[in-house]
Parts: sequence; C-alpha cells; structure tokens
Amino acid sequence: MASIAEKIRSLARQQNAVILAHTYQPADVQDVADYVGDSYGLSIEASRTPADIIVFCGVMFMAETAAILNPKKRVLIPEPGAGCPMADMITADELSRLKVQYPGHIVVCYVNSTADIKALSDICCTSSNALRIVQKIPADRGVIFVPDKHLGGWVQEKTGRSMVLWDGFCPTHARITPDLITAVRAQHPEATVLIHPEAPKASRDLADHVFSTGGMCDFVKKDGNREYIIATETGIIHTLSKQNPGKRFYAVSEHALCPNMKKISIELVAETLEGAAGQVVAVPEEIAAKARRSLSKMIEMSS
Ligand code: SF4
Repeated sequence: MASIAEKIRSLARQQNAVILAHTYQPADVQDVADYVGDSYGLSIEASRTPADIIVFCGVMFMAETAAILNPKKRVLIPEPGAGCPMADMITADELSRLKVQYPGHIVVCYVNSTADIKALSDICCTSSNALRIVQKIPADRGVIFVPDKHLGGWVQEKTGRSMVLWDGFCPTHARITPDLITAVRAQHPEATVLIHPEAPKASRDLADHVFSTGGMCDFVKKDGNREYIIATETGIIHTLSKQNPGKRFYAVSEHALCPNMKKISIELVAETLEGAAGQVVAVPEEIAAKARRSLSKMIEMSS
C-alpha cells in the first residue's frame, strides 16, 4: 500500500501542484514538500513556479502572499485556521492613523502581516532582507516599521536609523529568554548560538549571530563548527539536521514552538489535494494589487 507521502506526491503530479513548506512546519510535512524555505525563499518560489496549484504549508499570511504574487494560480492552505498572532497585532485603521501622524515616512512592513497592511505599506520585507531594504531608503526619509518591534529594533541598531516601531511581537520568539540561552550554552559550551531577529534584544545580545531562518541554513552549511544552539522555532532543527548530517543542533527551548505552524499535518496536506480539506486563499484584487506593489518593491530592492 502506498504511504501517505507517496499518495501526496502522486496527487501533486496529477494536478500539477507544487507543495511549499516553511522551515517551521512539522518534519513530515517538510519531507513531502517540493521546496522548504523561509518567507523570502517561499515568496520567490511562489512567484516563479510553473505549477497550476500551490499548496502552501505555513500560516495564512504566507499563503496570502503566494496568492497575491500569483493571481492566476489556485493557492490552497491545508488549515485556514493557521494564523499568526503577530500579523494580527496591527489593523489597517491603526496603520492609517500612524501614517497620518508621521507624514512623509516610508512604511516598511514585515511580510508577517495581513494583506491589508501590505496594501497600505510602501515596501514589504522579510527577516532576511529587512536590513538591506532599510539601508536603501534615503537617509532623509523617516521610516515606519510594522508590526514586529524586535525585528524593527534590530534593523534600527544595525542601520543607526531612527524608526517608528509598532509594538507587535511574536509570542513564540518572546519565549526565548536570556536565561534559557545562558542555561543551554552552559550545557553545550562549544556550540555556536544562532538566534532569529524576532527574539527580544536581551536574548539577541547573548547570541553569537542573528540570522533569518534562511540565513541560519546558509551559515551552518559553510561554517566549520559542528554544534549549534538554535534560538528560533524548533521546526528548523529538522531542516538543519537534514542539510547537515554530522552536525548537532540543540533547541534553546522545546517551548519555542509556534502552535499555528503545527496546525498543518501530513494528513491535511493529503486531504487538501483530495479536495476534502483546506481552503482556496483569495485576496480581493483591489487589496491584492496594492499589496503586490509593496511585495514587488521588496523583490526589486533585495537584488
Ligand atoms: S513563529 Fe511567530 S511570527 Fe511566525 S507564524 Fe508563528 S507566531 Fe507568527
């Protein structure tokens, strides 16, 4: 009898569907995907795929991004209830008011935001290109950064720019405290500590390097050390272990887990391709057209 993974691969072939999965997805979902990556890599992959259907294994804002970049494709999310609390921490009305308060400022929104917020922003960014994008904004222009105060704060530190930061944050990364880093480092003194910029500053300051998830994967492949403490969502340990057999990875905390990312299961991926689960992700064209501009600007400024 065919395994569930074989069934998924066969259904995907028959339907000309591509399966995209974020590095925070459960291990078996990553293993069955055509492409595993971070938000930026997945946006690029979504914009280039020749497939007719995109099955997006991640949270809703990611699937919305794929739908915005591919208006002619069918984008399916296996679990429509997989949201992102950080993306929901700012509303379109709140951002509109902020723009009135700071006229002339360039609005940079983290991709972890709703389509409405992307539509009201000038440029989108991910954690892998936020620094480069803000550096390219003329120095005489003010910057509003939404919704993640930690990523925004890190960009501010690195660029020396004074930015208006929204008070949003990721509850999963907020659980990565300085005490946890100190304790895990004491257990593995030879390990290099890699942390995501969504983590609070006090924790980032104790790490050896700050990277997006894609940046972590690139760094580990080239780096000479054999042991790493990973201070981001634990799903990436599966990605890193597969890409780097022989290296060891320790989660800074088993509680650094995003419950929304884990709402998608391999069974739901199969049922989505069978038409028994999942939802078509549709963004009204009026919003999508504006959001596409801020995403296209990101892609243009990242090159
Ligand atoms: S890890 Fe944080 S930012 Fe990412 S989807 Fe989960 S809650 Fe949102």
